[in-house]
This record gives sequence, structure tokens and C-alpha cells, in this order.
Amino acid sequence: MKEQKGTLFVLTGPSGVGKGTLLSHVLPQLDSLFLSVSATTREPRPGEQDGVHYYFLSPEQFRSRIEDGAFLEHAQFSGNYYGTPSAPIDEHLSRGEDVVLEIEVQGAMQIREKRPDAAMIFVAPPDFATLEARLRGRQTEAEDAIALRLETAKHELQQIPKFDYVVINDDLTRAEEELKAVFLAERARTMHRTFHI
Ligand code: ADP
Ligand code: 5GP
Repeated sequence: MKEQKGTLFVLTGPSGVGKGTLLSHVLPQLDSLFLSVSATTREPRPGEQDGVHYYFLSPEQFRSRIEDGAFLEHAQFSGNYYGTPSAPIDEHLSRGEDVVLEIEVQGAMQIREKRPDAAMIFVAPPDFATLEARLRGRQTEAEDAIALRLETAKHELQQIPKFDYVVINDDLTRAEEELKAVFLAERARTMHRTFHI
């Protein structure tokens, strides 16, 4: 029995909910699961490296890649463009390797339309006050950007019913276990496997 084509996972949820933190803990525990590196027009944060955390592009470069059809999805979020380069994803999937996209909700909805087989996961906060405290506590955005991200979060949270799975990021260790369980359960689905018995 072997995997035919890799599984595409989409992990979304409001900014500051803990998507990056959860993935950084869960990815090292799973084989053959690649995290897609997105492109963005936002400024790098201290410590972020081009080609590792994001491909940092100018708005002109980003628009020209949109015109070239280089993105599987793209969206504007909080005043910047973000997009998923298609080519590396298809390469991994065709080799039977799984890929996870960590993207915001509009982009996730585009993937749901284009790739109906994708496993759609929403990471939610236990409550709105916790989300706000985490986003502020991260100290990566100015006050106006935090306010915009929180306003966006209210709309994003209404989209939860459109997802296959919701993981509430309350206690980090518990949420990590649940997210890992989702990846493992999805991998075991018959639709992702061919049988030679
Ligand atoms: P996202 O990638 O969704 O924008 P981050 O992973 O950057 O969010 O997390 C936002 C902040 O919340 C970070 O400072 C992170 O350390 C913290 N955080 C994440 N998950 C938890 C958790 N379960 N409990 C407490 N703090 C958390
Ligand atoms: P940040 O600026 O905090 O790194 O990211 C802001 C939001 O953009 C996050 O919710 C993040 O998941 C999302 N994001 C990152 N890469 C992409 C992408 O390629 N496409 C889309 N649609 N969203 C992305």
C-alpha cells in the first residue's frame, strides 16, 4: 500500500492565534510534511530571512508574478499582498509528499474552490480577549496594524463552519496534540491512498 499523491493541508485562523507557533512544534514530529514559503510585500520583521520565512517582494514584483500566474492563491491582508507560489507545491505533491499552507482566510477559501481535496483546518482562539492579548504580546505590529488585524479577525471567525477541522489553541501542548491528530487522521483517509493487496 502506498501514497499516490501528497495531501494538501491548509492551516488558517486569525493573526496572533498561534498558527506559526503550533506548526513549529508539530512539523518536526511529522515525516514528509513541507511548509510552503509564501511571498509577501510586507516588511521583514527582525530576524526574518528572505526565502526562509517569506519571499519578500516589492508591490511591482508581486503584481508581475500575479500576471504570470505564479500563485496558487493570493490575497490582500492588512494592507499587504500575500501569496502561495504554485510550483513548489505541485512538485512536492506529485512526489507523494504532503504540503501545508499557513495562510489567511480569503486565501484558504480560494484553495477550497481550486483544490477540493485539500484538508482545511481553522485554528481558533479560546476567546477574543486571548487573541488580542497574544497579538499585542507578540510586539510585532504597531497599534493601528493590531487594530486592523483584530477587526479582520471578527470576520474570519465567522468562516469557521466552512472548514473541515477546528483546533482551539487554548493550552499549547493540548492544541499541538490535537493538530497532530488531525494531520495523522487525514493522512489515513482512504481517498489519499491506493491499495495493492
Ligand atoms: P500566528 O502565526 O497565528 O499569527 P503566532 O504563532 O505568532 O500567531 O502566535 C502569536 C503569539 O501568541 C506569540 O507570541 C506566541 O508565542 C503566543 N502563543 C501562541 N500559542 C499560544 C498558547 N497556546 N498559549 C499562549 N501563548 C501562545
Ligand atoms: P504575517 O504578516 O503576520 O506574517 O501574516 C499575516 C497573515 O497572512 C497571516 O494570517 C498569515 O497566515 C497570512 N499569510 C501568510 N502567507 C500567506 C499566503 O501565501 N497567502 C495568504 N492568503 N495569506 C498568507
